Amino acid sequence: MLQRNPLTWQRPRWQQDLAEAVRDPAELLQLLELSPDLLAPALRASRDFPLRVPRSYVARMRKGDPDDPLLRQVLPLAAEEVHRPEFMTDPVGDLRAMPHPGLLHKYHGRALLITTGACAVHCRYCFRRHFPYGEANPAAGQWQAALDHIAGDPSLSEIILSGGDPLSLSDTRLAALAEQLAAIPHVRRLRIHTRLPIVLPSRVNQELTGWLTQAPLQKVLVVHANHAREIDAETVKALRDLQNCGVTLLNQSVLLRGINDHVEALIDLSETLFAAGVLPYYLHLLDKVQGAAHFDIPETEARLLLSRLRNRLPGYLVPQLVREIEGEASKRAIV
Ligand SMILES: *Cc1c(COP(=O)(O)O)cnc(C)c1O
Ligand code: SF4
Repeated sequence: MLQRNPLTWQRPRWQQDLAEAVRDPAELLQLLELSPDLLAPALRASRDFPLRVPRSYVARMRKGDPDDPLLRQVLPLAAEEVHRPEFMTDPVGDLRAMPHPGLLHKYHGRALLITTGACAVHCRYCFRRHFPYGEANPAAGQWQAALDHIAGDPSLSEIILSGGDPLSLSDTRLAALAEQLAAIPHVRRLRIHTRLPIVLPSRVNQELTGWLTQAPLQKVLVVHANHAREIDAETVKALRDLQNCGVTLLNQSVLLRGINDHVEALIDLSETLFAAGVLPYYLHLLDKVQGAAHFDIPETEARLLLSRLRNRLPGYLVPQLVREIEGEASKRAIV
């Protein structure tokens, strides 16, 4: 456990950065010198799923460009209000795969723990935008039932911390959880799915690298970047620091209309990730979630993009194109 002296303890820098994230669409438009015409739809579309974006991420956006690929991931648009019947609120059936609140055990050998509903950034395409975190996450200190389930199932060798974003929890809580997981003999690997090192690199501080280095498990960290411009110098440094903890770094992206739907953008993303020590892992087809239909790319077009990518890059820089289908034993590879 990390020790905390109540007299000298200060909120870590990253928590302050998180608290200061931009939440007001008017402010975002002003910071980026964008037309006030975008405000009314942004206010309407953010009612269900509010705007949230850290300032260091906003600083990587181009001013005056409403089509900036980073902005498009976070700005609520009128297009979100268009409802299409095949776009649902729980597109991957998560609510039906929970043996305990907050534990998803869909695939052999690995289970996913929803540690928190909080994220540093609200991605407009997110399939969890309608997820009832209040009911489904054990963040209120109720990890015990999930831990008991894990301890009772020797087939589980890997535990995935997900959310929300697990790195929005404090290092004290994460270190304690890692310790509890490491004490279960059949758990060998700890995997963390997080977008924080990308959107808020100040999250990767000494407290985090300290417990990660010490955790007696194999560690995999899957970050989430969709565009090369998300990876700036500070992000590269954060990724390097994570690598130095003995963590294997992978990336997952979502194929998104208007953001990374052409081959040059995908090449640039893979090259930039690798230069920062990260291997591309998955490229997800969009989960058909209500409000995100304008990001969708048909499977035929996605296949064509991937075959072009394969013609241009070494195999290890080509992510696997996948889609999640409810009830299947793994994510489905699209080839
Ligand atoms: C995606 C996912 C995993 C991990 O799948 P991998 O193919 O190992 O990356 C595990 N559990 C759930 C519920 C998932 O959605
Ligand atoms: S960080 Fe991940 S879980 Fe959070 S909103 Fe973005 S895609 Fe969804």
